[in-house]
Amino acid sequence: MQELTTRDVKIQDSFWSPRLAVNAQKAIFHQWEQLEASHCIDNFRIAAGEQESFRQGFFFADSDAYKWLDAASRIYMLNPEPALASLMDSFIILLERAQMDDGYLFTFNQLHFPGQHWVNLQIEHELYCHGHLIEAGVSHYQATGRRDLLDICIKAADLLVRDFLNASNDKTCGHEEIEIAMIRLYRVTGKENYLELACRFVERRGRIPFFALHILGQLRSYRKREEYVAGLRRNYLEEHPEHASFRLPVDNFAKKPKFSRARWNLNMLRGFYHQQHAPIHRQTAPVGHSVRFGYLETAIAMLLRARPDKRLLVTLEKAWERMVTRRMYVTGGVGAAPEIEGFGGDYDLDPELAYAETCAAISSLLWSWEMTLVTKKAEYGDLFEWQLYNATNVGMGQNGDTYLYNNPLVVHQGVIRQGWYSCPCCPSNLSRTFADLGKYIYSFERDHLWVHQYIGSETAVDLGTLVKVKIESGLPWNGRIRIHLQPEGTRKFAIHLRKPSSEAFTQYEEPTASGYDPRQAEYDVIEKTWDPEGETLVINYDMPIRLRRAHSKVKGHAGKVALTRGPLVYCLESVDNPEVDIFTAQLDTSSVHDELVPDLLGGIVVLHGETTNGKPMKFIPYFLWGNRGESQMTAWVNSA
Ligand SMILES: [Zn+2]
Repeated sequence: MQELTTRDVKIQDSFWSPRLAVNAQKAIFHQWEQLEASHCIDNFRIAAGEQESFRQGFFFADSDAYKWLDAASRIYMLNPEPALASLMDSFIILLERAQMDDGYLFTFNQLHFPGQHWVNLQIEHELYCHGHLIEAGVSHYQATGRRDLLDICIKAADLLVRDFLNASNDKTCGHEEIEIAMIRLYRVTGKENYLELACRFVERRGRIPFFALHILGQLRSYRKREEYVAGLRRNYLEEHPEHASFRLPVDNFAKKPKFSRARWNLNMLRGFYHQQHAPIHRQTAPVGHSVRFGYLETAIAMLLRARPDKRLLVTLEKAWERMVTRRMYVTGGVGAAPEIEGFGGDYDLDPELAYAETCAAISSLLWSWEMTLVTKKAEYGDLFEWQLYNATNVGMGQNGDTYLYNNPLVVHQGVIRQGWYSCPCCPSNLSRTFADLGKYIYSFERDHLWVHQYIGSETAVDLGTLVKVKIESGLPWNGRIRIHLQPEGTRKFAIHLRKPSSEAFTQYEEPTASGYDPRQAEYDVIEKTWDPEGETLVINYDMPIRLRRAHSKVKGHAGKVALTRGPLVYCLESVDNPEVDIFTAQLDTSSVHDELVPDLLGGIVVLHGETTNGKPMKFIPYFLWGNRGESQMTAWVNSA
């Protein structure tokens, strides 16, 4: 199966076009302002010798600037705004000056430990940062055709090849990402060494002897280094007290269970946290930090396209199935354990403790897309849609300048959209994902065309003859879809239309933990000879309101339902429900009906219901909660 590029697909969609406009016109500029305000960009100015100051932010802060550049490049591909070009250009020049002669670029070491490279690979994200730099370079090259940033990245990548291609098994990064980056760089340069390095990083995983001792050593070294940096900071502030008042933005609020620290320690020592517990062909369950896990799986699936390996594919399929059936929330959110920002055990899905980081949903989107291309199965596109509309989309506020980091399904207090975070990994990740949306709608192979997502758009695909395709879609509010196909010449080909799992709803023998089951999706195939005059396929999905029930093994969910309609999960937000306590109210399930409300939150379909004692209940799409100030929310409701 072949993919299209973002440039090949023009999105015109009543739901997504305004969202993408907010992303391109507001979010990306807001993010740059925040990177400046939090001194993230200044770190590069100091490294380039253009500014005298003290480095700010976490050791991995460079990655947030690179991810912004990646997002800006992807946005620029379809929205070539001079203001964005000028920000990118000045930052690229700065990167060129900050980069060391050997290609190394990691301000934490450059400023605090000059001359030191690759000291603490499991903890300090050096390769992760280089990975996001390289991804930005590839995206910028694809968007502009220019080589300036790409050349910076090639210089860095060549250093990595020199230092890591023939290295020992402990030479892997604790936060996967470099693997995806090297594969993308290989795809634009054709240099086999880059692909080979990605392959070796993946194969080395889980093969560090006595990992617990290894990670203890790294933790000890990291703490010493942290203390050393704190000392440098104290000395600096003594000489420059005017900088003492600077504070990073707030941390994200996550409610943590008992024994969090002990669980983190155990997860770390056993290698789960870093996916270092077993060689990858034995990693059949999602474990550890969920963003890292998603990036690892994405990289493996990308590698399978270049180097097919049946055994590894089976491993990925098992891990994916384990995730969707036992370790995923009904919103598509993954990562139940806030202390590790990652996966808990099977059916361990407390809705209030849910971490479900926005980036974790994004990493899962990337993985599902690669699985679609490798397997041609509809279930991956189904999960993509579900996680896109719910677990991902919730991460950015309606105006593009507020964000959620973790995404619980029940909020009593504390979780509020913020303009920025001390660890701002999610905003630019959202922006680069939205910017790329067009490329996930279609794919093709010889005389087959697939439609994975029903997003209003136009493209042209070569199926032996050039075929123009246009989708008009009422999603997510109604299921009326029209697909216009017009080949240049008479041609026989097949179109595969993903029938969403929400339209099937046949229960598997073993229901999923969440009540949502992407495995029910399938392709409807129409194979025939198509006429150059063109033809319009009309699809009408019913989109009934579904009452999802969690698996009986998920604690605390007995008697509760989650309401979904089409691809959307709904929730109760306190601001809409002044007459009831949203956490204790009993929904009369026979009372539920929908209504299009044009003047609420930009125009949405609301679900109405009544409590068993006749009080009104109003549900809004989960992705829109938290846009009207601080409030309480629940996606699970008691049902009579
Ligand atoms: Zn994040």
